[in-house]
Amino acid sequence: MPAARRVYMDYASTTPMDPRVIEAMMPYFRDRFGNTMSPHYWGMEAREALEKARETIAAFIGANPMELIFTSSATESNNLAIKGVALANRGRGRHIITSKIEHPSVLEPCRWLEKYGFEVTYLPVDEHGLVNPADVEAAIRRDTTLVSIMHANNEIGTIEPVREIGKICGERGVYFHVDAAQSLGKLPVNVEEMSVDLLTISAHKIYGPKGIGGLYIRDGVKLEPLLHGGGHEHGLRSSTVNVPGAVGFAEACRIAGEVMSEEAERLRGLCGKLIKRILELDGVHLTGHPERRLPTIASFWLEFIDGERLIMELNERGIAASTGSACSSGKIEPSHVLLAIGLNERQARRGLRLSIGRWTTGDEIDYAVECIREIAEKYGACSERKSYY
Ligand SMILES: *Cc1c(COP(=O)(O)O)cnc(C)c1O
Repeated sequence: MPAARRVYMDYASTTPMDPRVIEAMMPYFRDRFGNTMSPHYWGMEAREALEKARETIAAFIGANPMELIFTSSATESNNLAIKGVALANRGRGRHIITSKIEHPSVLEPCRWLEKYGFEVTYLPVDEHGLVNPADVEAAIRRDTTLVSIMHANNEIGTIEPVREIGKICGERGVYFHVDAAQSLGKLPVNVEEMSVDLLTISAHKIYGPKGIGGLYIRDGVKLEPLLHGGGHEHGLRSSTVNVPGAVGFAEACRIAGEVMSEEAERLRGLCGKLIKRILELDGVHLTGHPERRLPTIASFWLEFIDGERLIMELNERGIAASTGSACSSGKIEPSHVLLAIGLNERQARRGLRLSIGRWTTGDEIDYAVECIREIAEKYGACSERKSYY
């Protein structure tokens, strides 16, 4: 039976494109379709659009345009940052530091490097998902070349102390990479203030198109490319550049720059209301930090229903939600993030993430709360509650 209404609460996995972004991209699919490497008029036109887009995006993160390259996604940027730095600096050392709650596109490249003789320290987090900067400091060794810590977590919304960590890395002469895919457009992101050497961003999380991401690489940072070929993007990422994507990404950044503070405040209000009302139900627990969190992610674990079943129940009511990360929903594995904040395996399969964005309304918040209340009653939140304690 088709749901009577549809409510999208999965903005953290991907966002719809802003109509202004689509408008800005259109000419670059049709008339201005050139290859940026071509010496003729079409090539020049494409090159100009690409460099203008680079300037807009670089300005949005406080970077020099020369220090920003385009990739296909945050996944690719994370892979390039980690494998690229590890390989290029292996003469200096083979030790990397990251945290247990990073996105799989950080954790998996680290695991891959371990197969080739690199050593990785996966730092623990506290019950709210915070990395302790003192732990980073203590983990740095003489052979450490890179620290990679995310700006804001995509499952539980916790905002990490990246400034403090950046300062430590700077003092110790270790490169610092930050995955800002989830925070860009919601929190101020500035490569100078955060003292980062490498920063990952992605367009489709901020109302831009899928298939385009960026990696900020501070001038002087050595890294090996993953894609070899025609030498595009300073030789760091060969492949004909996605000009419409870059133009769309830039327009998404331009809009975010314009509306960010107002939008974040509105969403913080809605998200706060959503969290407060869901926590009024029995058997529901907030995950992530109570204050230091993104204004767009409401995350919980529920005693009375497993995550997968909950997503199905919500889907039947027209609500798009997630158990946590897109990559783990659909599988029955417990969330690595929920395990890291101290939940047991059973609890870590009971996560719920509702993520809101530009087109979320107060009415939709009411509807989501109503549906979760209904599901809580169906699965007997109250009667089961005591048995788990
Ligand atoms: C979505 C996300 C990614 C992956 O982004 P893609 O552009 O889809 O590859 C990486 N890190 C974080 C924190 C994310 O939220």
